[in-house]
Amino acid sequence: MNAPLLSVTDLKKHFAVRGSRGAAAGFVRAVDGVSFEIARGETLSLVGESGCGKSTVGRAVLRLSDITAGEIVLDGRRIDDLSASAFRPLRRRMQVVFQDPFSSLNPRLRIKATLAEPIRNFGLARTAAQIEEKISELLDTVRLPRDAAKRFPHEFSGGQRQRIGIARALAAKPDLIICDEAVSALDVSVKAQIVNLLQDLQKELGLALLFISHDLAIVEHMTHRVAVMYLGKIVETAKKREIFASPKHPYTFALLSAVPVPEPGNMRTRIVLKGDVPSPINPPQGCRFNTRCPYAFDRCRSEEPALRDLGEGQWAACHLHDLPEAENPLSGGGHAV
Ligand code: SF4
Repeated sequence: MNAPLLSVTDLKKHFAVRGSRGAAAGFVRAVDGVSFEIARGETLSLVGESGCGKSTVGRAVLRLSDITAGEIVLDGRRIDDLSASAFRPLRRRMQVVFQDPFSSLNPRLRIKATLAEPIRNFGLARTAAQIEEKISELLDTVRLPRDAAKRFPHEFSGGQRQRIGIARALAAKPDLIICDEAVSALDVSVKAQIVNLLQDLQKELGLALLFISHDLAIVEHMTHRVAVMYLGKIVETAKKREIFASPKHPYTFALLSAVPVPEPGNMRTRIVLKGDVPSPINPPQGCRFNTRCPYAFDRCRSEEPALRDLGEGQWAACHLHDLPEAENPLSGGGHAV
């Protein structure tokens, strides 16, 4: 097997919380021991409710924030401990597309200037004519007219602005793009167009994508693998087919139960999770999901389950898989309850 493009091992990101007098009052364990790999040309989707830590993982991989512990390796080179100057040449290889393209585009710059910046900064063209040619190619690539280069961000629709955001990411000729809720703010039909564009670009350019999203319906259309996060940890990871057909963690099962299925007669049993996500400052003892899990039993409140291999590349962190098959509500085809 080829070495992964990106490898993240036991990543932790804790934020200090200060009390009213400025003294340390604890830590928000936003990311608390996350490991995954992404191959070249592969899409891994990181999913979970708001606040589960998935965007913090993306920021850590991009080195937009320091990490508390763990290791991040890009194409065989450890990057989390590099100085800013040593990291700079590698920065080009990982780009990001954010949720809100309007706030991430400078409103005072024409699109031409926005796209020229990474081309110039990373030394990807020398002359003005070469830069202009590259900008035209980028606009072709994201299916925008070439005269878009002369316009300002406010002259475009949300979907068009997101195409510009993608063009800006592509300008650096990256190997990996982190899409942080990149289609969440768009209308349904525009969402589908942007997802289709990302898929086409992935095939054309061999890009790897880390697709961070709370929207499993979109993820189902475009991912190769899924990692489900809850309160700073990955609780299940699997190839798309396995996770959508037969989730092995009650949290995944609950998230999927809210995703509409195409055939009206083929309903998923809806599971409404009770209560709110607990505080990451003081996560529950044992399994972090035990306060909301419909299957929690005594062991869940004292012992934290580790991710375990359930075959076919599917891993889940749940004590149910130690029970005899007949007693495990998730051992079948994902239609428990
Ligand atoms: Fe639910 Fe227990 Fe499994 Fe956690 S370990 S998901 S509480 S059954």
